[in-house]
Amino acid sequence: MSKIRKAYKVRLKTNDELERKLVRISGSTRFLWNKSLAMNLERLERDQGILWYNELAFWMKVWKGSEEYGFLGECPSQILQQKLMDLERAFRDCFDRKQPLKRLPVFKKKGMADSIRFPQGFKIDNRRIFLPKIGWVGFYKSREILGKVKNITLTRRAGRWYASIQTEQDIEIGKHPSDSVIGIDAGIKCFAAFSDGTLVEGVNSFRRHEQALAREQHRLARKQKGSENWNRQKRKIARLHHRIANVRGDFLHKLSTEVSKNQARVYVENLNIRGMSGSARGTEEEPGSNIKAKAGLNKSILDQGWFEFRRQLVYKLAWQGGSLEEVDARNTSLRCSCCGHIEKRNRKSQAEFVCLSCGKEQHADVNAAINILTVGQTGMACGSNRNSGRKQELARNREGVLPVA
Ligand SMILES: [Zn+2]
Repeated sequence: MSKIRKAYKVRLKTNDELERKLVRISGSTRFLWNKSLAMNLERLERDQGILWYNELAFWMKVWKGSEEYGFLGECPSQILQQKLMDLERAFRDCFDRKQPLKRLPVFKKKGMADSIRFPQGFKIDNRRIFLPKIGWVGFYKSREILGKVKNITLTRRAGRWYASIQTEQDIEIGKHPSDSVIGIDAGIKCFAAFSDGTLVEGVNSFRRHEQALAREQHRLARKQKGSENWNRQKRKIARLHHRIANVRGDFLHKLSTEVSKNQARVYVENLNIRGMSGSARGTEEEPGSNIKAKAGLNKSILDQGWFEFRRQLVYKLAWQGGSLEEVDARNTSLRCSCCGHIEKRNRKSQAEFVCLSCGKEQHADVNAAINILTVGQTGMACGSNRNSGRKQELARNREGVLPVA
């Protein structure tokens, strides 16, 4: 038996009064976060030690009792305590040598990702949730919520409130029903390429939504900042972002479910290496080509999609008794998957791979996916001539992400 955690996201049925209450609570937690963070940043500047949870909880009590910050008392204590724990975790992560990418926590701005986490004190009925100091709140139920509820987080996205219900359940994880293995490469012309030759195109509507987004953002720029019209336009853009996220979410979930059911082991390239070395603009001798078209929104949407896809694969494969494994991606886009010849000129264009040694022609991303599979199965990286070649390849990979259309 293994314990697995699963999150269910449901939309809350809110009314004006409830929304005002939630906004006040998230305002209080934001205030507490920012005030505690400011205190700690000041201490850091003066070379004093950080205040951890216990000290911060002491200060919180002091603030609650004061006239100025007494409004904190309206907020359920456990939510405030949770925020302080989150802050402590954020500081610990950023001082953790094993997590070099973590940065200092930042101040929270109003309206940006409001979230309220309830670690306890809640109840769940068939179609409603009980939250301390808030009461019963109905939600739109889309599927059965299974397992023991561990915590509930409320978030506001594009003017709507959602509850993410985290549960834990015991399940029997056996052997994966299939014994097939596959290599997957983050595509350059498409969302992903599989070593069996499948090309996953991605969602057509990204393009359409992106164009709409660009148009609306252009409109926003022409409005007076802070005006009624500007605010309305801001909300419109938030809704559009939300819609894009939903479309992408559906697409990624379908894909990761299918892959995790059919493949016992999935190999992908190691993103830590890719994320930390190589510049997005390429090297001096070999500047990243076509930077403009690939930069910005398209790229960020695709990149986020790829990270999320991997994240989903990790846990969905685990549920099935399968696994996701990272491999050294060195030269996987330059090596011929047929004869092993490595040469930069093998890669004719972004989509085309023609081996200069054996003449094998193949979609460049599929060729890379086959190499990833080979590296995964043999445990040996594709040979590397010199380090700079690898850096350039990494740079190209980072740059080479094109919009899915
Ligand atoms: Zn070849």
